[in-house]
Amino acid sequence: MISEKMQEHVKNSSIIRAMFEEGKRLSAIYGVENVFDFSLGNPSVEPPQEVKEAILEIVNHENAISIHGYMNNSGYEDVRASIAASINHKFGTAFNQNNIIMTVGAGGGLNVIFKTLLNPRDEVITFAPFFGEYKSYVKNYDGELVVVSANTATFQPNLEEFKTKINAQTKAVIINSPNNPTGVVYSNETLIKLADILREKQKEFGTDIYLISDEPYRELAYDRVEVPYVTKFYANTIIGYSFSKSLSLPGERIGYLVIPDEVTDSENVIAAANIATRILGFVNAPSLFQRVVAKCLDAKVNLEAYNKNRELLYHSLLSYGYECIKPEGAFYMFVKSPIEDDIEFCRLAKEKNILVVPGTSFFCPGYIRIAYCVSYETIKNSLPGFKALIEELK
Ligand code: PLP
Repeated sequence: MISEKMQEHVKNSSIIRAMFEEGKRLSAIYGVENVFDFSLGNPSVEPPQEVKEAILEIVNHENAISIHGYMNNSGYEDVRASIAASINHKFGTAFNQNNIIMTVGAGGGLNVIFKTLLNPRDEVITFAPFFGEYKSYVKNYDGELVVVSANTATFQPNLEEFKTKINAQTKAVIINSPNNPTGVVYSNETLIKLADILREKQKEFGTDIYLISDEPYRELAYDRVEVPYVTKFYANTIIGYSFSKSLSLPGERIGYLVIPDEVTDSENVIAAANIATRILGFVNAPSLFQRVVAKCLDAKVNLEAYNKNRELLYHSLLSYGYECIKPEGAFYMFVKSPIEDDIEFCRLAKEKNILVVPGTSFFCPGYIRIAYCVSYETIKNSLPGFKALIEELK
């Protein structure tokens, strides 16, 4: 009885979510401490103390009717103004509250912007490996996701192939840095070249191509690596941000879009995104958490906990003979599968109670993704299993 479109979504339903369920099943049998679940990007560090203080402050001192009420579909004006001011302060931009639309996490924001922009058969280009939900988000609006294959030497985008995939149907390009699943941060050099290509192709085809920068991991960057602010490189850029990882609040569903005035047809795009927020059924982003995040724009999660995990896992895996580039951000490691068949490798890992996700889920077979947002103990206790796995496969 379900729709044909949903039949397809159900069939391709996230392998990551399935792994997460499998982790719970194995934990019930073997005990949580004996299952090493690296499948899901669920933050393992607590939200900063400021979040709790903000909740209490708001609930105790603000008007309950207004805290929990409807507001402008784009969100509270004062919250959006605070966010714009914070971005301007950090990145030297000149946004105001009209450029900010509060969203139901990054996923909600991406759906709003795709609903706003896409006509059936419009193409959206992305770079492998990528967060697999993009395919469903684009399909929701009858667009086509066009995938540029991975550059496995550096996992920066493959720009030569990119050039060949842009055509008159290309409506948008979506990038994600720091990247899920590789942890790679797209460099200034990459963004300069990418922007040059987009400008050239807009001219060639006489079209407007929007660059959507999906940034839920912006704040998770190690070794002081700079994550460039993408609006500086290309005028037609829309930013999707989320507090899911930066404040460890994925269940609260809160983020925002930045739609700069420089974007083509910005007034209409902003107005349409406001309506898309409503008619997608979100109506508006969660009201209490809009107010909470506005008070926590400079708060930070304990990045050092992720960094410790990253260092231990990376150096241990390398010493056992695994191949991997060192992630600069997010909390994922994208490791070359010791056997060609990444799905089979994940099956073998599961026999050792290690749950990892095949690169195939990110359109990059031959690799596996390890989400190291787990306890340090989990990393430590999983290491003998990882070592035994590669030794058995040699
Ligand atoms: N984009 C990427 C690259 C992600 O990894 C995720 C979640 O893991 C999302 C978007 C969705 O984030 P949110 O929970 O804020 O909707």
